[in-house]
Amino acid sequence: EVRVRFAPSPTGALHIGGVRTALYNYLFARKNGGKFLLRIEDTDQNRYVPGAEDYIKNSLDWIGINPDESPWNPGECGPYRQSERKSMYMDYAKYLLEKGHAYYAFDTSEELEAMRQRLTAARVVSPQYNSITRTQMNNSLTLPADEVKARLDSGEPYVIRIKIPRKEEVRLNDMVRGWVMVHSNSLDDKVLMKSDGMPTYHLANIVDDHLMGITHVIRGEEWLPSAPLHVLLYRYLGWEDSMPEFAHLPLLLKPDGNGKLSKRDAEKHGFPIFPLDWRDPQSGEMVAGFKEAGYLPEAFLNFIAFLGWNPGDQRELFTLEELIEAFSIDRIGKSGTKFDINKAKWYNEQYLRHKSNQELAAYLLADLEKENRFLSEEKAEKIAAVMKERATFPSDLWNEGKFMLIAPETFDQQVAEKKWNQDAIAVLGAFKNQLLEENEPLSAETAKSKLAEAAASEEIKLGKVMQAVRLAVTGVGAGPDLMQIFEILGREELIRRIDFALN
Ligand code: GLU
Repeated sequence: EVRVRFAPSPTGALHIGGVRTALYNYLFARKNGGKFLLRIEDTDQNRYVPGAEDYIKNSLDWIGINPDESPWNPGECGPYRQSERKSMYMDYAKYLLEKGHAYYAFDTSEELEAMRQRLTAARVVSPQYNSITRTQMNNSLTLPADEVKARLDSGEPYVIRIKIPRKEEVRLNDMVRGWVMVHSNSLDDKVLMKSDGMPTYHLANIVDDHLMGITHVIRGEEWLPSAPLHVLLYRYLGWEDSMPEFAHLPLLLKPDGNGKLSKRDAEKHGFPIFPLDWRDPQSGEMVAGFKEAGYLPEAFLNFIAFLGWNPGDQRELFTLEELIEAFSIDRIGKSGTKFDINKAKWYNEQYLRHKSNQELAAYLLADLEKENRFLSEEKAEKIAAVMKERATFPSDLWNEGKFMLIAPETFDQQVAEKKWNQDAIAVLGAFKNQLLEENEPLSAETAKSKLAEAAASEEIKLGKVMQAVRLAVTGVGAGPDLMQIFEILGREELIRRIDFALN
């Protein structure tokens, strides 16, 4: 059975890249009839941020990808929070010690810093604790056995490090990137157990993936450099046969393609890159989310699905069900994906247009209510129907459609200069007279024929004055279908507005 997991660390707002990782895991699980797990990786207590777990949960809830097993609905492999699994990891570290694949190290942070400076001074690009430098440090590979024992007995703080072999080629066959080969000389003797008794990410991640029966690890490309270390851990723990397959997802790039997408880009360009609004509890800093900016969950979902994957044909609109159907890992690209907020907006427009007038009217009525305005549902639906073609966000229905309920007091000067003339005045006057002759409620069709008659009676081409007519009635030079607007305004309001414009 396929079992995949999303394993975020609760260190702040979940980045859009994290949501994408969750989504791809979810799609892969559903596609293959497997299970999607959520595991909270909170072994780094210093980086724990209150509220971050809820944020993760709410973000996934919002787009409707609910884990089959998680801290909130545990399955049989719990607990699903690493901090609650603390007691499980030491045994594995001890096993590695016994097998000679790990060792105790007693270096103080000052000593580690001194080593780093020594290496930096010697122009070593990335100073490492490795097969060469470890011979000069305080660890159980260099100290005499009785001293190691004495230090441990006296309760001296220690960490447990993996012993990376010298001169070994570590290989893995990534489902996205193909064969990845790394020479062990370039790997650190990473810490596995910290001095506070907590495992590091690396050990906890491997132990948990194994114990939770994870078959495929689908995660961001930033974890690719750790993958060889993970392969070695599987090998040394004796789990190589059941090692999961890896799929590392391409980076999300800045809109111009130059480098990784960052929070700074979002601030600079004023678009969201987080699913939900988030206020950092420590700094009070606010980041804006897609949800609150007016993106529909189905549009957001569709947008992020395409950040690194495509179905291989021209289709762009996919429901979650359709994504499950179409998803496959071999259609995930290797190269980074540019973040394009216009694409997100486009999706939002598409999904907004697919909503029923009734649903759209509900948005409009809610916005109106905030301003203490009230409107019949019937009229709200009519306005929504007309406005939806031009709306990107639900709030546009009201923001862009205000003129439907509020008569203009001013007129766009630029349009007026170009289009307001004697012909327009004549047609509007005649149109008003036509309207006065009628008693029936005004329909878009009647309005259209009356306006045509008015223009004909003045021997003026309607096309020439159309924009001026719109200006008179709405105050601006562009907008949705004018005849529909006339119908919504009704005969009396229309006459009032024409009168106002003509005077
Ligand atoms: N806790 C890691 C993160 O925050 C998980 C990486 C992985 O999936 O292995 O991204």
